[in-house]
Amino acid sequence: MSDSIFRPGDGQVQISQAEIADRIAELGKQIRLDYQGQPLHLICVLNGAFLFMADLVRQIDMPLTIDFLSVSSYGSRTESSGEVRLVKDLDQSLKNKHVLLVEDIIDTGLTMQYLLNYLKGRSPLSVKIISLLSKPSRRQVEIDIDYLGFEIDDAFVYGYGLDVAHIYRNLPFITSQKV
Ligand code: IMP
Repeated sequence: MSDSIFRPGDGQVQISQAEIADRIAELGKQIRLDYQGQPLHLICVLNGAFLFMADLVRQIDMPLTIDFLSVSSYGSRTESSGEVRLVKDLDQSLKNKHVLLVEDIIDTGLTMQYLLNYLKGRSPLSVKIISLLSKPSRRQVEIDIDYLGFEIDDAFVYGYGLDVAHIYRNLPFITSQKV
């Protein structure tokens, strides 16, 4: 099966399926400790965070609710322009809910800045962020990440929900290509 896509690239960043699962289990336990007894509402930023969201909610052992939104950012394939457009809005109100925004990766931070402003305008009890990945060296605006999976170097990564031109989201690990 030489044409299988299920093989890592040759770049610096390689995060295995087991490493991802272990980290998500830790994050899930921490989130339960922090929110137990409170109305926790997870919002998944589609499309990139769909696998992370699915695995994360199964590691948070308490009642919670979920919703989804989708944004698109104008710009080139690998660079966010900061001009964010809401493509799919939330279905549920945020009133009386503690929101945890679930993102795949924070790069420049511009998408997250837009989303934080947007969500805070809908009057939740609180808004916190969980991101699977962060590239701090690329940040253009300061973002406080409340829960983080992995900090990575400046590389274009894909797999585990993240795409290259809409492909590779189904890889069970995170990988990158040498540049
Ligand atoms: P930001 O607005 O620059 O922080 O970009 C956030 C969005 O850009 C993420 O939600 C991803 O969709 C995309 N993105 C940034 N870096 C990568 C990457 O290395 N691989 C795949 N998508 C990325």
